[in-house]
Amino acid sequence: MHHFQYKGDELFCEDVPLRKITEQVGTPTYVYSLATLERHFGVFDQAFAKRRHLICFSVKASSNLAILRALFRLGAGADIVSGGELYRALRAGCDPKKIVFSGVGKRDDEIEHALESEILAFNVESVAELSAIDRVAAKVGVAAPVALRVNPDVDAETHPYISTGLKKNKFGISVADAREAYRLARRLPNIEVKGIDCHIGSQLTKTSPFRDAIRRVAALAHELRREGVPLAFVDVGGGLGIPYQEEGEEPPSPHEYGQAICDAVEPFDGLDLTLVCEPGRVIVGNAGVLLTKVLYLKQSEIKNFTIVDAALNDLIRPAFYQSYHSIKPALRREGVGKWVTDIVGPICETGDFLARDREIQKADAGDVLAVMSAGAYGFTMASNYNSRPRAAEVLVTGDTFSVIRRREDYEDLVRGEEIPAWL
Ligand SMILES: *Cc1c(COP(=O)(O)O)cnc(C)c1O
Repeated sequence: MHHFQYKGDELFCEDVPLRKITEQVGTPTYVYSLATLERHFGVFDQAFAKRRHLICFSVKASSNLAILRALFRLGAGADIVSGGELYRALRAGCDPKKIVFSGVGKRDDEIEHALESEILAFNVESVAELSAIDRVAAKVGVAAPVALRVNPDVDAETHPYISTGLKKNKFGISVADAREAYRLARRLPNIEVKGIDCHIGSQLTKTSPFRDAIRRVAALAHELRREGVPLAFVDVGGGLGIPYQEEGEEPPSPHEYGQAICDAVEPFDGLDLTLVCEPGRVIVGNAGVLLTKVLYLKQSEIKNFTIVDAALNDLIRPAFYQSYHSIKPALRREGVGKWVTDIVGPICETGDFLARDREIQKADAGDVLAVMSAGAYGFTMASNYNSRPRAAEVLVTGDTFSVIRRREDYEDLVRGEEIPAWL
């Protein structure tokens, strides 16, 4: 469910025609629907209503301050993976006691900042990191709250680049090694064990891998409790997929997912743990689209190309993960037929495409297309490759909209660069 719908022949975000946004802001532009964002958060929150829980939004999915604020004011916390994301979360008003810090490569300065900010916990991914956190905590003069990220060795059955819960992945500590790591954690003077954590991947379209992972983590949690390890929360990670296509892959609904998680964590009953989860995509994925303008049509002997002004630097998912995004015209035209075309950007890479062999209404130069479901891992993965200024971001509520990130200009491209005097 999302609030990008046609009214007559025009595609709207809530009550704003997308045409109006492109007229005022230009293209390429990311447009987010506040109502969709809030609805998704609400549905997800509701799925866990039966349990004491905390939803830490995965900041890397969409990190604009306005998006974060919209979620924090509904009670969300933040799952962060860098010092930069900690800065963003705090700037957007997140309660530090609702922040968990994940990621395999935390630097000392990032750890220090997080300790000083008094976050809920570090999700620790290796024994070496545990020692580093202990050392930095001693320097700051605090006890560092930690959960160990356990790698449950289950196949998330998703794209290999976003699969994280297998032994061969770089993430987490294996179940076998976790016991010893917890013992070490308890011996370290500046570490306070708070929880247990896992995250097996992204864009999962089945509930069974979640269930398998949690079952393994639960078994370990029971063992740890018997040893007297004081666990206060279990973090089940994020990863629930969204439907990118109108038909085909059907990921579980947040309700089904919530049910599956609640069933799976039942073995934790009696341990009185708070359930933490770290959704990203499922909250924001379908709450955003990327608007792009058609520049040229080009036909070769074997292919039709629709060349648009958005490129892989704006939305890298098709090139990086071979992912599918539905593409819709901002204006449907009577009597215009469909054709099969590649929709490509201006970047000098063959991998620069938004869609391949796609059947859509034949567009004209100047037409605007909406790349659907671009709210997650869209703008946050954008770059300046080919010296392209990054797109604007716009947030819609009802019949009004605001620019929440202005389009970059050429001065932004060279900010911080310097030609040495000796050159
Ligand atoms: C990326 C990430 C998430 C969010 O994943 P989604 O698929 O967007 O829900 C949650 N936890 C961790 C540790 C992550 O790295």
